[in-house]
Amino acid sequence: MLKVVKFGGSSLASAGQFSKVGKIVRADESRRYVVPSAPGKRNSKDTKVTDMLYQCYALAEAEENFSSALKKIQERYDSIINGLNLTLSLNKEFEMIAENFKKKVGADYAASRGEYLNGIVMANYLGFEFIDAAEVIVFDTNGEFDADKTNERLSKRLKDCEHAVIPGFYGAREDGMVKTFSRGGSDITGSIVAKAVRADIYENWTDVSGFLIADPRIIKNPEVIKVITYRELRELSYMGATVLHEDAVFPVRKAGIPINIRNTNAPEDEGTLIVESTCRQPYYTITGIAGKKGFVAVNIDKDMMNSEVGFGRKVLAAFEEHGISFEHLPSGIDTMTVFVHQEEFEGKEQQVLSAIHRLAQPDSIDLEGDIALIAVVGRGMRSTRGTAGRIFSALAHANVNVKMIDQGSSELNIIIGVKNCDFETAIRAIYDIFVETQI
Ligand code: ASP
Repeated sequence: MLKVVKFGGSSLASAGQFSKVGKIVRADESRRYVVPSAPGKRNSKDTKVTDMLYQCYALAEAEENFSSALKKIQERYDSIINGLNLTLSLNKEFEMIAENFKKKVGADYAASRGEYLNGIVMANYLGFEFIDAAEVIVFDTNGEFDADKTNERLSKRLKDCEHAVIPGFYGAREDGMVKTFSRGGSDITGSIVAKAVRADIYENWTDVSGFLIADPRIIKNPEVIKVITYRELRELSYMGATVLHEDAVFPVRKAGIPINIRNTNAPEDEGTLIVESTCRQPYYTITGIAGKKGFVAVNIDKDMMNSEVGFGRKVLAAFEEHGISFEHLPSGIDTMTVFVHQEEFEGKEQQVLSAIHRLAQPDSIDLEGDIALIAVVGRGMRSTRGTAGRIFSALAHANVNVKMIDQGSSELNIIIGVKNCDFETAIRAIYDIFVETQI
């Protein structure tokens, strides 16, 4: 058994959190490769080290004095080092960072130091080898992640290495220039390492006991999802459920490695297991509910649309011309609706309307804004009759008017459009019918 374990910022925010992590790693010999984030917030008013680094570097770039800002960052690490009674000094590292800040080597380099330094502390604490991610995570000259080169280099480097700490979030171009992934990107590094060593499992340790069936800001104490497939997760995270970086699934998914989301503060909880496929029937018909507000429905009418070859393409070309991506595309015989993000669309709406008229000559176009989309996701829907019926009756009982319904042919999800103001009521009604009443 071989496990790659990634710990998020809140799991590494203080010496106390580090010792929880130490216990977790030592409790299981197969936890051989550790990917740390930078220290996160210790409380709600605290600042993440990554943000402190960005702010400090902004001062350097503006040629202002950044030494006290950098000193505050060093104090964060020193309090961890002292709290763990380690004999480790980061003075030399901080001197080097200050020099590089003066040379203005880049914001990516600055941000990456959070993980880099935390990796050094973690390796010292665990007695593992430290491997600088800049040596093994490769970006190409355009700054894009190079998956093949990374996989080759990383698997070679780790082949004879029993235990290692590889900091998350960054890598480097061949010329040595440090590059980071987008925010939250240590999740991606963990996945890349798991793939390179062909791990049996990628454990992603955070501060919640897994994915919840629904947003806890809307549903009080929602249940945890025990098992979810990669495809279900894609649908849910796309619609706003966030625990794991969206791009973190790709490396392990291709290698058939499951991800286990675990809670550093409650290691006894099993968390959520993310798998390629499972024959285990889900406990509820639905796996999860997620959604987002702020969409516009662009309703396009044209008589005999259904027999006009190329109509859809012409309509979509109008959106493409203005760089707007669409979310959903339900259609009827003589109507077609394009759902787009209101924020993206608002400023360009009149240009898009005139482009649709020019390209597709519709009879009329009608816009309706302030729409929320809700995704009800579940592999269990495929084998259960009447899921859509149940959703509709729950919404009708809750007095919610359904503007749109769209079920993908995979029967994995049903997308429902409601007014923004009905969003929370609708989610509560759906959760109630499928989870509270245990149907
Ligand atoms: N430290 C980085 C961030 O705050 C990356 C991570 O935590 O995954 O975004």
